[in-house]
Amino acid sequence: MSKAYDVIVAGGGSAGIAAAIGARRAGARTLLIERGPCLGGAATLRNVVTYCGLYTRDDREQAVFGVAGEMLDGLRELGAVSEPTRFTAVAVVFDPEAVKRVADDLCDATGVEVLLHSHLIDASRVDDRVRSVRVADHSGVHSYEASVFVDATGEADLAQHAGAEVRYGNDGWVQNGTLGVRFGGIPSGADVSRETVREAVRAAKAAGATGLTAESGLIARMPVSGDLITYLADEGYDARDAADTSRAERSARRQAGAYLRVIRTLPGCSDAYIVSTGPEMGTRESRHLVGRAQLSEKDVLEPGPAGDAVAIGAWPIEYHPGVGVPSEWRFIGAPGYYGIPLDVLWSRNTPNLFCAGRTVDGDRGAGASLRAMGTAFATGHAAGVAAALAVWDGEVSVVKVREELQRQGARLPG
Ligand SMILES: Cc1cc2nc3c(=O)[nH]c(=O)nc-3n(C[C@H](O)[C@H](O)[C@H](O)COP(=O)(O)OP(=O)(O)OC[C@H]3O[C@@H](n4cnc5c(N)ncnc54)[C@H](O)[C@@H]3O)c2cc1C
Repeated sequence: MSKAYDVIVAGGGSAGIAAAIGARRAGARTLLIERGPCLGGAATLRNVVTYCGLYTRDDREQAVFGVAGEMLDGLRELGAVSEPTRFTAVAVVFDPEAVKRVADDLCDATGVEVLLHSHLIDASRVDDRVRSVRVADHSGVHSYEASVFVDATGEADLAQHAGAEVRYGNDGWVQNGTLGVRFGGIPSGADVSRETVREAVRAAKAAGATGLTAESGLIARMPVSGDLITYLADEGYDARDAADTSRAERSARRQAGAYLRVIRTLPGCSDAYIVSTGPEMGTRESRHLVGRAQLSEKDVLEPGPAGDAVAIGAWPIEYHPGVGVPSEWRFIGAPGYYGIPLDVLWSRNTPNLFCAGRTVDGDRGAGASLRAMGTAFATGHAAGVAAALAVWDGEVSVVKVREELQRQGARLPG
């Protein structure tokens, strides 16, 4: 495999998949680097099996198209995704095995080169630009060069190693993480609603049960298996630090056992069992790239004219302030979505570096909306297209990025 590319995308989650496909379709030779054994990110590696942010809350209108729309189409063809469903806002529930397959097919059909099992461990910088990345596999460390880079690692690893400006959390705040736990053995008619589970957790706590944190969180039945997915086992930790994350993983797995005991008390659920935890702890927030601009909570709640937007956000602000503490919600004003400008995806001090997904530059409130996977597809698609255009144009024109995104099926306001 050649080691020089036009665009390198680091991280194969929702944002990275969309970025790589967007860049490749815009004509760039593109390499997608993922440390895990499959694409999908949190959707396949962390039991986060609900795509949020693709639909508006009040009208249930699809707001994000482009690569996200193709993922939805692929999942529908496999019968592996639910109809849009109102939880606190609107989401679809999917089967993660199908996400792996659709992501592989989309990347193959587009001509994206994909490297799995490849951990980006370093990057080189010449003057103000990223020159290359270093990637470890079981045979050693390999170097890959590119003209332009997209950081979709969630932890902003590429930006950090390349000496781009980053920050951890916002104003001293970092949202807590949660282990996604999937339960099987639950009959189709059993009442496992959020309210029922919450009351059962409260009752268990009142009776002296230990090892339980959150009482409420998103709880959904999965297509294909009928399994129950729960986001309840909260932990506070620093995702940059392996020792701290390891402690949190072990503690959260103990919590999963405690929640199983609660689920088994529900009528008809005495044979429930754990299908899977994670496998990884679900991190909501870590590093953000410092962009040329920052999206604010006001931009999300009071959407302004979006004629220069390159992506759409439609998930409300959902902030998780601490272990076992209920999440804080704030909802988007009319028209139910907001525009995301290119400058919040573009490094302030490194002109050939873009970011996408939960690393995007938003303040405490905006970051808690931008992080949803539906929005990650949107910012990824935009970052990939912008990166490809930057290969040839140097300075990127927002008008051209919008035109190319629309040519690729994205729909943008204005
Ligand atoms: C418990 C929990 C529940 C959530 N619920 C929802 C929900 O219901 N719906 C929703 O839409 N969102 C939800 N979210 C948010 C969402 O999962 C993330 O914010 C989203 O996945 C961000 O997408 P991403 O592509 O930026 O990052 P990720 O999905 O985290 O993908 C990043 C990818 O980069 C890879 N990577 C990281 N570092 C490196 C490296 N150094 N080298 C190579 N590869 C690397 C990772 O392996 C991963 O595949 C939830 C999050 C959590 C934690």
